[in-house]
Amino acid sequence: MTAGEAKQTGQSAAPARVGSAERPLRVAIVGSGPAGFFVALALRKQQAVPTEIDIFDRLPTPYGLVRGGVAPDHQSIKGVTKVFERGATTAEGFRFFGNVELGVDVELQTLGEHYDQIVLATGNEASRRLGVPGEGIARCTPAAVFVGWYNGHPDYVEAQFDFSVRRVAIVGHGNVAIDVARILAKEPTELAATDIATHALDQLAGNTLEEIVLLGRRGPVQAAFTPAELKELGELSSAVPLVDPEDLALDEHSAAQLEQAPKQVQRNLELLREFSQREAQPGQRRLRLRFCVSPKEIVAAADGGVGGLRLGRNRLEPTPEGQLSAVDSGVAELLPVDMVLSAIGFRGQPLPGVPFDPEQGVIRNVEGRICDADERLWTNHYVVGWAQSGPRGLIGAHKRASAQVAELMLEDLAAGRVPAREMPARDALPQLLAERGIELVTFDDWRRLDAVERDRGQRRGAPRDKLTDVDEMLAVARDGAPSSSATEMS
Ligand SMILES: Cc1cc2nc3c(=O)[nH]c(=O)nc-3n(C[C@H](O)[C@H](O)[C@H](O)COP(=O)(O)OP(=O)(O)OC[C@H]3O[C@@H](n4cnc5c(N)ncnc54)[C@H](O)[C@@H]3O)c2cc1C
Repeated sequence: MTAGEAKQTGQSAAPARVGSAERPLRVAIVGSGPAGFFVALALRKQQAVPTEIDIFDRLPTPYGLVRGGVAPDHQSIKGVTKVFERGATTAEGFRFFGNVELGVDVELQTLGEHYDQIVLATGNEASRRLGVPGEGIARCTPAAVFVGWYNGHPDYVEAQFDFSVRRVAIVGHGNVAIDVARILAKEPTELAATDIATHALDQLAGNTLEEIVLLGRRGPVQAAFTPAELKELGELSSAVPLVDPEDLALDEHSAAQLEQAPKQVQRNLELLREFSQREAQPGQRRLRLRFCVSPKEIVAAADGGVGGLRLGRNRLEPTPEGQLSAVDSGVAELLPVDMVLSAIGFRGQPLPGVPFDPEQGVIRNVEGRICDADERLWTNHYVVGWAQSGPRGLIGAHKRASAQVAELMLEDLAAGRVPAREMPARDALPQLLAERGIELVTFDDWRRLDAVERDRGQRRGAPRDKLTDVDEMLAVARDGAPSSSATEMS
């Protein structure tokens, strides 16, 4: 007996099969960065199982680090949002709800009452700490704060920076460290044509930096940056990359590692060798890359802010796992710097009621299925992206990884692990959130905000000029219309 027949006869029907046209599989995705969007796109792409997908984000804006992390002068990378938007707007039954924070505005348990499956795609929003004395004094800041600040992320707009200094040390040899160095090295006129936040553009215009030093604890063969990013340092008009040739003399272990290393490591080394031949021209900022050094202490200047960085020199020693680890050689030095930005990685933050691995800084999972500390699986709960794996992988890598988790979700459905049950009406959750006083931002609302930002950007010849205050963003997104009624994206 169908639900309709049951209504006519007054008898109660068995709930319809989950994943049927009558009762599509209902999925909540929390986090609208690349990993979350790629799950949605993978679920939409398959035809076998009808789905209804809602993506939530704590911010009024979608796209996670594509908006708030990727460097403003890397606009082509941000083009991936077109793929997400196309997927979002051409799919029936696909909704976005911005300004909803899991653990604050809505509980995991409540989501469980309204959805068959829940995917957490909340990224890694905390910074790894240096763990040395002096960390946290004025002018010593995690690079993530600087990145969020120049990208107009609402969490970081109040951050304070003083660019009227001469030397900055960036700790870390990954692509984030290089992004940060490049933004500090570029001329304001170059940055004006990007979507850098206006407050950052204004403040960086007074930048008096003469030297930017990038510090890596291991050698050039082990550096995490990619050749494309490194190469860009050599193309800056206002700065020159410099490397001490002695830093490129490889120890026997690194030389052996290089022989087995992927092509991009060899390419890094070629670029670094080329940089080691360069000299700074008058007026150019010096962008120095140093290897095999670790910060030991941030030393305060008379004004209480950073005045120097005590460094320990490292030698490289093989580990039983076949890696090379940095070991303190006992040789120390004091590097005079006025600012320290640490770019040594990110980690997840625990979410209320969600199993968390504090050592790895990720949501506990077995290949994307959430589990508790003794690896007992949480049925129909999944995790993707950096929240699953830690801060590894570029945007493109999430496409395949998220699609694999989408396959697991469909596998669990096919195996009968998604119970058939009566579900609240689809609008019940947005209504509940509205009753809680939460101003939901739908995808149409976001489009209004997007159009305003693009329009503001045009005035300075930039792709967009971001709004950074959440209340202002909500007002623009709302544009007078009641934004709490969840509109289907079509
Ligand atoms: C500075 C920087 C520069 C980068 N540059 C590049 C680049 O040039 N090219 C490239 O390919 N990759 C780049 N990456 C890597 C890329 O950004 C990541 O691989 C990717 O964004 C990770 O995707 P994600 O969806 O896991 O997390 P994120 O993109 O971080 O998305 C997580 C989302 O979850 C939301 N969220 C968090 N907590 C909650 C909650 N409790 N409730 C609701 N929502 C929540 C956040 O607001 C965010 O929107 C860069 C990364 C950084 C940090």
